Amino acid sequence: MDQFAVRNNNLVIGNTELTQVAERAGQTPIYAYDRQLLTKRVADLRKAMPEDLKIHYAMKANPMPAIVQHMANITDGLDVASAGEMKVALDTTMPAKNISMAGPGKRPEELRQAVAAGITINVESFNELEILATQSEQLGIVANVAVRINPAFELKASGMKMGGGPKQFGIDEEQVPDTLKRIKALNLHFKGFHIFSGSQNLKSESIIEAQQKSIALAIRLADDCPSPIEKLNIGGGYGIPYFPGDTRLDTVAVGEALEKSMQNARNQIPSAEVIIELGRYLVGEAGIYVCRIIDKKISRGQIFLVCDGGLHHHLAASGNFGQVIRKNYPTAIGNKMEADIKETVNIVGPLCTPLDILADKIELPKAEIGDLVVIFQSGAYGITASPINFLTQPGAIEILV
Ligand SMILES: *Cc1c(COP(=O)(O)O)cnc(C)c1O
Repeated sequence: MDQFAVRNNNLVIGNTELTQVAERAGQTPIYAYDRQLLTKRVADLRKAMPEDLKIHYAMKANPMPAIVQHMANITDGLDVASAGEMKVALDTTMPAKNISMAGPGKRPEELRQAVAAGITINVESFNELEILATQSEQLGIVANVAVRINPAFELKASGMKMGGGPKQFGIDEEQVPDTLKRIKALNLHFKGFHIFSGSQNLKSESIIEAQQKSIALAIRLADDCPSPIEKLNIGGGYGIPYFPGDTRLDTVAVGEALEKSMQNARNQIPSAEVIIELGRYLVGEAGIYVCRIIDKKISRGQIFLVCDGGLHHHLAASGNFGQVIRKNYPTAIGNKMEADIKETVNIVGPLCTPLDILADKIELPKAEIGDLVVIFQSGAYGITASPINFLTQPGAIEILV
């Protein structure tokens, strides 16, 4: 993984050698995130995207408060998916007007907190509208609402589809005109639209098509809106490569095509600021998971490296977070980066379940008890997407370096 340098046989993260990172953390397992890589990723993306496009960070990918503050410094907004995430977002320097909340099943208390905070609420049902109207009245604060649309189209070739067909997300495109009428009747502050169609996509053509269709849809709906569209959030879904054969998303191609569709938006809905919201793409490649080998054993000819961390911290690397076929995440022995004697090993965690696999029959430098196993591409959907209570093992520590 060429985003990280190697020095003295060690992987370097945040300009610090891995063994030192582990000493500093005082324990393994560790999630370590590289601050400079986060900054570089956003800067590079801005170069590829249209200049007036706003980039938001969808913090469910990694809600560590220090990361969210860092992302607040370098992005244009934060997207939250619960009141818990909203608290972390509001604790940063990001103004409430650039924070939005999405997600099906927002509890009335959460909606009330969001109204009180003054953030934009992406409504996903008619019921939410009624609740928001009551709360606006009780609080004396008009709720800022955007309509999350479940479009008629899908984001093709997506790791996880979140739009098109029957879905728990958003309001079906066909019902949006009625939703807009209701927003007007309830005197809520209409902010715009949110169209999020899917996640982990590496195909520029699919993303380009979804972005074009999202902008066209907003333009079609503009006449039905109670007031001019202020925000048009066209989602994201930009993916990162995990496995051999995955090719990097061509953001330059996406940016060039988006420039063209945004020209239509600038002409026909000039009040709208166009937003993309990205989680994984912004943080995924800047993070590693590190655990220590606590045993090495041979079973019927195969070598097993047993580590102090596993699926309870990193469900995705074990292949159990939505994957159909388990594949190895890119893996290294982080304190033996330059060793040339290799062996084929299975890397497993300490849990009493055969699911606890970090790498299966992988060729790596010959490793011993005490060495540090590194799993790359671990900055997104790591600790908070893992069953940390399973088997009552110690937790992983998270550090931003
Ligand atoms: C999960 C989610 C995201 C982030 O998706 P990534 O694939 O991590 O970029 C963005 N917006 C919404 C509404 C989501 O649910």
